[in-house]
Amino acid sequence: MNTIFADRMKLTRKSFIREILKVTEQPEIISFAGGLPNPGLFPVEAIAAASAKVLSAEGKNVLQYSSTEGYLPLREFIAERYHRKSGLEIEPDEILITNGSQQSLDLIGKVFLNKGDKVIIEQPGYLGAIQAFSIFEPEFRSVTLFDDGIDTALLESVLNEGTAKLFYTVPTFQNPSGITYSREKRNALSNILKKHNVVCVEDNAYGELRFAGEELPTIRSFSDETILMGSFSKIIAPGLRMGWICAGKEIMNKLLVAKQAADLHSNYLSQRIIYQYLQDNDIDEHILNIKDAYGKRRDLMVKMMDEHFPDEIEYTQPEGGMFIWVTLPEGISSIDLFDLAVKENVAFVPGSPFYTEDRIGDNTFRLNFSNSDFEQIEEGIKKLAGCLERLTANR
Ligand code: PMP
Repeated sequence: MNTIFADRMKLTRKSFIREILKVTEQPEIISFAGGLPNPGLFPVEAIAAASAKVLSAEGKNVLQYSSTEGYLPLREFIAERYHRKSGLEIEPDEILITNGSQQSLDLIGKVFLNKGDKVIIEQPGYLGAIQAFSIFEPEFRSVTLFDDGIDTALLESVLNEGTAKLFYTVPTFQNPSGITYSREKRNALSNILKKHNVVCVEDNAYGELRFAGEELPTIRSFSDETILMGSFSKIIAPGLRMGWICAGKEIMNKLLVAKQAADLHSNYLSQRIIYQYLQDNDIDEHILNIKDAYGKRRDLMVKMMDEHFPDEIEYTQPEGGMFIWVTLPEGISSIDLFDLAVKENVAFVPGSPFYTEDRIGDNTFRLNFSNSDFEQIEEGIKKLAGCLERLTANR
């Protein structure tokens, strides 16, 4: 049977996370596993009103086929917002609307990657990117993440070994680690990539969700060559499946061909609903509410970890986004911890799937704080601490 499938499917890793999410669907489980935004913050009524409005005013039009690039007023809105918020000069025709960032990754993979091409990725890195790029059978090279961003010395030495096509990064509130690159690292990284002619793919899925510290410039602002990805998933709702790619003309022309071949264009009704929602509501005010809710959850989770986790356990203290990354002492397995925790009805994602190399990261795991309420965070972290005490005492 296996012989009928394409070679590329051999490399695509089986999803441990899918198995975990099955467990976490049981109602008694306190789940810090999924990467889900908090549904209590979805603007349900405003989206209902926007949907009714576009359907009643322009039903025949919004249900028709549309352009591959995406709805022009929506692209103009995104371009204008970049300009107003961060001084970025991006033209509407340098923006392609996609069915979420996950499709953006697929299209970028299609446009750039031949079998065996090198892709550099953070270690740990975003699992969805590893999976999306794996389809194109690249060779991954992973580079360690420090608290202030990528290990630039290691990156240089990897690039000196041989050229790479893409460097993929989530420099702000990274999934899975919550780490944010410093300004210096952003600058240094963009210089290194320019020198070695490597295309930088900057995935800014969480950039708007800063609840502490100072705003930092995107890597795109250091280099126009950067491909910048954005998404409405974390600031409006992921079910609408809407994101975008910003790229210069030459790359954009290739992306348009790939997009056309994939699905002609992104869901036009979703685009029109989002645009109507953005016209009738203050997105900045909505984002403030999300940041406030997530900031409080992060504060509580970190406080509970400070109070209850054994001292030798390390964790990141993200200034935004949705995740905390935990590192256990060497030799302690987060899979063993997972087995104990699930018996106590608590779930998280063990770290190894976020590494492209086997047998590393076994002592790490990811905690999501956006999708739990305060009681769940208190109870879940206390239970997890109890499991950790038992595991570390048994050494
Ligand atoms: N990039 C990163 C870093 C993510 O964490 C996610 C969602 N988990 C995505 C992309 C995909 O997001 P979207 O809903 O826009 O496809």
